Amino acid sequence: MLARSLISRKRDGGRITPDEWQELSDEYLRGDVPDYQMAAFLMAVFLRGLDGGETEALTRTMLESGERLSPPHSGLPRVDKRSTGGVGDKVSLVLAPLVAACGVAVPMMSGRGLGHTGGTLDKLESIPGFRTDLTLAQARAQMAELGCVLIGQTAEIAPLDRRLYALRDATATVESIPLIAASIMSKKLAEDLTGLVLDIKQGSGAFLPGTERGLELARTMIELGASHGCPVVALLTAMDRPLGHACGNALEVEEAVHALRGEGPADLMAVTYALGVEMLLLTRVETDPAAARTRLEAAIGSGSAASLFQRVIEAQGGNPGIVDDPAVLPQAPASAVLRAERPGTVLRVEPRAVGLGVIALGGGRTRMDDRVDPAVGFVITAKPGMSVQEGEAIATIYGRDADGLERGRRALLEAITIGDAGDAPPPLPLLGWRVTSEGAERIQQS
Ligand code: URA
Repeated sequence: MLARSLISRKRDGGRITPDEWQELSDEYLRGDVPDYQMAAFLMAVFLRGLDGGETEALTRTMLESGERLSPPHSGLPRVDKRSTGGVGDKVSLVLAPLVAACGVAVPMMSGRGLGHTGGTLDKLESIPGFRTDLTLAQARAQMAELGCVLIGQTAEIAPLDRRLYALRDATATVESIPLIAASIMSKKLAEDLTGLVLDIKQGSGAFLPGTERGLELARTMIELGASHGCPVVALLTAMDRPLGHACGNALEVEEAVHALRGEGPADLMAVTYALGVEMLLLTRVETDPAAARTRLEAAIGSGSAASLFQRVIEAQGGNPGIVDDPAVLPQAPASAVLRAERPGTVLRVEPRAVGLGVIALGGGRTRMDDRVDPAVGFVITAKPGMSVQEGEAIATIYGRDADGLERGRRALLEAITIGDAGDAPPPLPLLGWRVTSEGAERIQQS
C-alpha cells in the first residue's frame, strides 16, 4: 500500500518524507514494489517536481542503497568530472589521465551512450581488450596503484539509481532536474571525492538545452554536494555543435590520444583545460588558475599524461599500443569524403543530427542491448563560422559498407548548413557560465 499512497500523494503535489523514500527504496529493491508502480511514481515526480529536501533525501537513499569507493588511502585528494552528455565529447578520456598526472586521484566513473549522445564507456571499449566492468575491489586496487581508473557504475554503487535510471529511460522521465541531479550526485558521492566538476552542456545538442535549466541543474547539484561535504563547481559549455572533429567511438579515442600528445583541436583543448583548472583548484593542488593551467600544459608537454593513459589502459586489459600508434584501434573498412556543395560560410553543424548519424552508421544504440560498431563515425572539419569553397572537403565518413556511407552522407547533409554569413545566429560561446556555491558568472571570452 505504501507505493500506491506515495503515488497519489505525489500526483496531487504532496511531499515525500526521508523515511518514506527509504521505505520505498527498500520495498522496491526487495521486489515488493513492481516496476509499473515505480514508473507511475516517477512520472508523478517528473510532473510535480521535488523540493530541495526531497531531492536531498532521494540522493541519500540512492547513495546508501550501495557501497562507496571508500576514502583514499594514499592521502591524495580525489576529484572527478561529469558531463551531462554531448556529441564528440571525448573530454573524459583526456582529462582523467591529465589531472591524475598532476598528482590528484581521479576515479572517472562514466556512462554509456544515451539518445543521440555518445558514452565514455563505449569509447573506451573500442580499445582492444579494454575492460570497464571492474568490481569495486579492483577499482580500489587500481586507484591505490595508479591514482586513476576509468570505469562504469559498478554493481555495488547506487543500485537504486541503476534500477530507476533504466525505468526512466523506458518511460520518458529522464529530463527532470531533481531526478537527474539525484542520479548523478548519488554515484559521484559514492566515489568519496574531495571535489566534483560538472560540465553542463548547453544548446541544441544538450539534454536540457536552455541556459536557465542548465543553471538550475548546476545549482541543484552544488547544493547536494554541499550537504555531503563535497564542493562542486559547474561550467556551462557549448553543445550547439560537436566538440572537436571526431564523432564515433574509436575515432574519438584517436582524437583524445592526439590531445594527450598536445595535438588536439582547439575547442576540445579549451574545454579540457577549463575543467582541468577547476579540478586542480577544487583539490587545492593549485590555488591560482594560471598556475593550474601551466601545470596541466606541462603534463601534456612532458608526455606524463599520455604515459599515464597508457598505464591505465594496460591495467584494465587494453592494448596500450594505441597511444603510440592509434592505427591499432578498430578501423572502418570504407570511407568517403564529403565536400561543400557551394561556397559560403558554415552556418550550423547540428550535433543532434550528427549523433543520430553515428547511430545510423551502427556506432550507437537505439536499444540498451544493441551492439556498437567501434570503428564507424565522422571526422568533421567544418565548424560554424568557417568559410568554405565549393568542393572543399568538410568531413570524412567512416562506415562498414557503401550503404552505411550513404546513410552517413545523408545525416551530414542534414547536419551541416552552408549559406551566407549572417544568416544564422552566432554559435554559443564555448565556455558560457561558471557556477559555484557563491553564484553564477558569465565566463569572459578570451
Ligand atoms: N546521467 C545520469 O547518470 N543520470 C541521469 O539521470 C541523467 C544522466
